[in-house]
Amino acid sequence: AKDSGKNKFKFYCPNLNDKIQEEFILENNLRDVLNKDEFFLNYQPIVDINTQKIIGMEALLRWNHPKLGLIPPDKFIPVAENSGFIIDIGKWVLKNACIQAKKMHDLGINIFISVNISVNQLKEENFIEYVSKILKETGINPKYVDLEITESISMENIDYITDVLNKLKYLEVNISMDDFGTGYSSLGQLKNFYISKLKIDRSFIKDIYIDSNSTAIVSAIIAMAKNLNIKVVAEGVEANQQLKFLKDNGCEMAQGYLFSPPVDLQNMENAIKNQIKK
Ligand code: C2E
Ligand code: CA
Ligand code: CA
Ligand code: CA
Repeated sequence: AKDSGKNKFKFYCPNLNDKIQEEFILENNLRDVLNKDEFFLNYQPIVDINTQKIIGMEALLRWNHPKLGLIPPDKFIPVAENSGFIIDIGKWVLKNACIQAKKMHDLGINIFISVNISVNQLKEENFIEYVSKILKETGINPKYVDLEITESISMENIDYITDVLNKLKYLEVNISMDDFGTGYSSLGQLKNFYISKLKIDRSFIKDIYIDSNSTAIVSAIIAMAKNLNIKVVAEGVEANQQLKFLKDNGCEMAQGYLFSPPVDLQNMENAIKNQIKK
């Protein structure tokens, strides 16, 4: 790669590797995406393990490109983060998720809405201001809003992040630690943050019955969270066996294909209506 520097700006270069090319295409298409109706939100139910009732839903962003088709978030979110577009995209997601949840609240369906927040958003200087603005504009009760941040955030800029989290506490929204167990922060660090929920990463839930290390980690996380007064959501629950283990170990909430994949708003509303009828 001795002349890789020379080729840096030749984006159209035919021998450029596929991944870079793909990212370049995605980035260019992300530029104006919010004005084009190509984004929409899916929602995945979060269930109370004891009552089996839906008590919350996570908003998951979808991008339907007219030519490229449905592009998964794992592909375009990192590109949006690197290019800075995530700031405007993140505002769009938060606002639309709050609008939908508020509509449900107005119908007497009081479930919480979880919204994924990228590190770049949290670090952006106007973050608190626009969260506050969106809460006011949509009229949602902030107690029903959960902001999901990933564990890796807690390692960098610890003082700054602690300050941001405290300001969010003042706005009365909740903070969930997403993908818990995959990052590097120690469990003890949790006490320094204002966190109301943690979401155990799918990789541990998947192996609950296969790998004794996962079993030990999951039960330890649940026990520790209990002591710190933090609620636990298990992610990626696909089997009844997993659910039973979680219930027996005192885990409060679960999310996963066992209950429902992410669905559009209409199907989410139907799922809630059906459970009310029961
Ligand atoms: P995440 O926040 O950890 O979201 C959970 C992912 O696991 C979702 O993938 C969901 O569809 C999937 N999932 C849920 N239950 C199961 C299950 O039982 N089995 C399996 N195998 N998978 C399950 P999705 O929707 O493709 O999203 C991937 C990631 O993209 C999310 O992971 C999140 O990190 C990111 N993402 C999605 N929407 C947004 C957004 O609006 N903003 C930001 N910053 N990131 C987002
Ligand atoms: Ca999440
Ligand atoms: Ca997660
Ligand atoms: Ca994730």
